[in-house]
Amino acid sequence: MLEVMHCGLCHSDLSMIGNHWVVSRYPLVPGHEVIGRVTAVGEGVDPGLIGDVRGLGWISGSCNHCSLCLGGDQNLCTSLEATIVGRQGGFASHVVGIGGLGHIALQFARAWGCEVTAITTNLAKAEQARRFGAHHVEELEMLPDLQSRFDLVINTVNHPLDWSAVMASLRPRGRLHQLGAVLEPIQVGAFDLIPARRSITGSPTSSPASLQKMVEFCVRHNIRPLVEHLPMDQVNVAIQRLAKGDVRYRFVLDA
Ligand SMILES: [Zn+2]
Ligand SMILES: [Zn+2]
Repeated sequence: MLEVMHCGLCHSDLSMIGNHWVVSRYPLVPGHEVIGRVTAVGEGVDPGLIGDVRGLGWISGSCNHCSLCLGGDQNLCTSLEATIVGRQGGFASHVVGIGGLGHIALQFARAWGCEVTAITTNLAKAEQARRFGAHHVEELEMLPDLQSRFDLVINTVNHPLDWSAVMASLRPRGRLHQLGAVLEPIQVGAFDLIPARRSITGSPTSSPASLQKMVEFCVRHNIRPLVEHLPMDQVNVAIQRLAKGDVRYRFVLDA
């Protein structure tokens, strides 16, 4: 059990509040980016953890005995338990975060040594995008002009795009990796894929082992989220501002 100290506010929290994914159960306590202090442990868990500061993400549990779990892919377990689906999330006691995937992705890509382009609808974010590591910043509406430019497009946007233009922006063997939870089908033609061997992939939150590596990578390369702190009792202000996209780049609610 965690006593919440801080919790990020994510667009997924808004989707759960509005039941956009048709899995919400009310009363709903959102919040799945939790930092907290361990106050109690269940059966079979090391009591030495009590008092430690730990994180909790989207996934709160998996079966730990299927082949996926035993192979380290707990995040793909078919018996996965989510922190805020049918249980209480971190707003119960402390934090919040937002629209924050993209600004972290830029920093990772730069640290990996890629030539990085940020694509945005809002050129006011260009200067900041360069500070996060983008070599180039392009406007979304210019995408049709960017033919065969990218090896990998990481899309964190959760509404429909001009998918053919996205695919055409990929080099041969290029890949669109979808992270934004767009509800409408992603419409692409067979010929967006076949001649240049392009592909489309997606992924959920990471396995525990990968998350550990990512945190170590962040420490090594000084990758940090840019956050705006608000006290937990301002959670409704944060939710309203997040819904309008008015946050740079994630809210953290402090308990
Ligand atoms: Zn989230
Ligand atoms: Zn499992």
